[in-house]
Amino acid sequence: MRLIIFGPPGVGKGTLSARVVQKYGIPHISSGNIIREIVATGDKYASEAKPYLEKGLLVPDRIIIDLIEHRLRQKDCDNGYILDGFPRTVEQARFLAKRLGKNGRQINHVLNLQASEKTIIERLSGRRMCKKCDAIYHLENIPPKVPGKCDQCGGELFQREDDKPETIKKRISVYNEQTKPLIQYYRNKKLIRNIDTNEPLDEIYADVDKALSS
Ligand code: AMP
Repeated sequence: MRLIIFGPPGVGKGTLSARVVQKYGIPHISSGNIIREIVATGDKYASEAKPYLEKGLLVPDRIIIDLIEHRLRQKDCDNGYILDGFPRTVEQARFLAKRLGKNGRQINHVLNLQASEKTIIERLSGRRMCKKCDAIYHLENIPPKVPGKCDQCGGELFQREDDKPETIKKRISVYNEQTKPLIQYYRNKKLIRNIDTNEPLDEIYADVDKALSS
C-alpha cells in the first residue's frame, strides 16, 4: 500500500501516520522529519534548507525531491509506505507519479485530513515533539504521562520553532497557496478521500480504515 497523508500543518498527519504504521506495518516517511534531521546534523543541504524551515516556507523542490528519492530507494519501501508532508507542490506530485510509473506502481490512496483553521492553530500551538523518536504530543489533547518526557522512549519533548505563532500563520498561507491545489490534482485521479479530524479519534480511525480498504 502506497499512501499519502495530506492536509494543512497541524491537522494531525503525524499522529494519524503513527497509527497507520502500527496497524499496516509500512514505514512512515515524513519529509518534515527528514528536513529537520538534516538541518540538525548539518548534512548535505542543511545550510540551504535551514532558512526555509525557520520561516515556514517550502524548501526548493529539487532539494526535497532528491531527499525523498533517496529515501524511497531504501529496501523497507519495497512493500509500500506512508508519505506525510510530501508531495506539497504539483511539481513534487509529478515527480512521484513519474518515479512510481517507471516500476508500474502508483499511489493507492490520498487521505485528505480536514479541520477548521481555529482547530489547526490550537493543535499547532500545543504540539510538542520528542527529540529522540519524533513522537507527537499535545499539551491538552495528548499529554505525556510525565510532563516534558516522551512516554515511548523517555526523550525530551520540545516545541518546534515553526510551531510558534509568527510562523504558524505563514505556514497556513503557504499551504493554501502552494499545497492546496494538489487536492484537485489527486481528485482528478480519483484518489482523494476526505477525513474530518474534528471527530473523536475512534471515528477518525474507523473512517481511515474504511478508506484504506476500499
Ligand atoms: P512538516 O513537519 O511537514 O510541517 O514540515 C516542516 C517544514 O519542512 C516545512 O514548513 C518546510 O519548510 C519543510 N518541508 C517539509 N516537507 C516539504 C516538502 N514536501 N516540500 C518543501 N518543503 C517541505
